[in-house]
Amino acid sequence: MTTRSELAIVGGTPVLPRGWTYPEWPVVEAADRDAIERTLSSGKLTCMASGEQEVSGLEREWAEFVGCRRAIGVANGTAALTLAFNAVGVEPGDEVLVPAVSFVASAMAVLHHMAVPVFVDVDPRTCNVDVAALEAAVTPRTTAIVAVHLHGLPCDMDEIVAVARRRGLRVVEDAAQAHAAEYRGRRAGTLGDIATFSLNVSKNLPTCGEGGLITTEDDAAADKCVALRQFGERLDDDRPRSYLSRHLGWNAKLNSVQAAFTRAQLDRFPRYEASRQDNVARFLARVRELPGLECPSAPPDRTHVWHILRFRCEPERAGIDVSPRAFRDALRRALAAEGVPASTYQRVPLPDQPVFRARVGFGRGYPWTLAPERGPDGEFPNATRALQQSFTIQKFHLNPHAGATLQRFADAFEKVFDNLDVVASMARAADARAAAVEVGG
Ligand SMILES: *Cc1c(COP(=O)(O)O)cnc(C)c1O
Repeated sequence: MTTRSELAIVGGTPVLPRGWTYPEWPVVEAADRDAIERTLSSGKLTCMASGEQEVSGLEREWAEFVGCRRAIGVANGTAALTLAFNAVGVEPGDEVLVPAVSFVASAMAVLHHMAVPVFVDVDPRTCNVDVAALEAAVTPRTTAIVAVHLHGLPCDMDEIVAVARRRGLRVVEDAAQAHAAEYRGRRAGTLGDIATFSLNVSKNLPTCGEGGLITTEDDAAADKCVALRQFGERLDDDRPRSYLSRHLGWNAKLNSVQAAFTRAQLDRFPRYEASRQDNVARFLARVRELPGLECPSAPPDRTHVWHILRFRCEPERAGIDVSPRAFRDALRRALAAEGVPASTYQRVPLPDQPVFRARVGFGRGYPWTLAPERGPDGEFPNATRALQQSFTIQKFHLNPHAGATLQRFADAFEKVFDNLDVVASMARAADARAAAVEVGG
């Protein structure tokens, strides 16, 4: 650019004009409507209906897609986690290791199962769990690890599984954000003892509402999940329902309409995924060289499925002497003014969520009171810093036709970075205000 164009935040013309049509997610097509209509016409609306095809069909297709023996459709990704903990033998009062950055459900499901989440700091670049910190957090009460593939990037599974084998722990993969992500030639969902997926409308493989899937190689664990989602009942395919419950179960079934919708989406998923990879790669190739912006990436041994794009802001690398947080806030505001929906995802580390800070539980403080010797949570400096100095792009880029919008986003990033002096003075002013508040007490 020869002449700099003025940033929209100081009155210039935004890169994405008002009225720009942002790509929707999910994409709903005739095939999805047909799948719903077909299911309604079948009259078989839950997986307990004799001859029901949609839930069992999705389970078969997802198991094949992921490359594992069994898949079980459940009500949502959170229920999937709770059932998975139960199926691998986590007991009330057990400690379960959870990364300090994830969606709240990764830890809340531990509490629903009456186990105690123990938080572990993360790698500052990926926000996936730090394996050295993980092993250091193991105590005699630890029985399982929640391995979250955050943002769509598989975590260090070989190292995590090695810790688990050494310490006798079970590994539950939380793959809610990682449909089709690959790690050393295998797909997420096959990398631990059991895995959970979400089909929430916001995820890479959506349903028309809420849904989830569990995958495992372990037939006994899979059978237990099938019973647990249906009131813990004993179920034999060829016999009428017994109504006898053996386990403390839930009603956590995936419904047939939502399974049918996801089957239609799964048909197109490989195409969507390929477009997403292409669109995001072309976008990141343009913004990767911008100074002071650390872009998401994948090491050569794994793929990133870009569920969320997180950008870490490093002002010192742009030669700007402001706090990373103020730099992030200023960049985010400048980008938003240009029409880039730059957001934050997870404002605070999980252990700082009010529900976990206050150790909210069930009556008498269970399950926290079952682990009485646990002191307060430690510090999570990597998680805290990563969340303070990064912003995200969510949802809009998932649409397979998001390529043109992402190119406009790249234009906006370039424009903002052409005007870093403006961004720097915004950030400097914010730092000064914060300092004044501090001095003023
Ligand atoms: C979405 C999500 C969940 C929960 O899934 P729901 O289907 O919304 O219950 C769990 N873990 C992670 C990492 C998620 O992103």
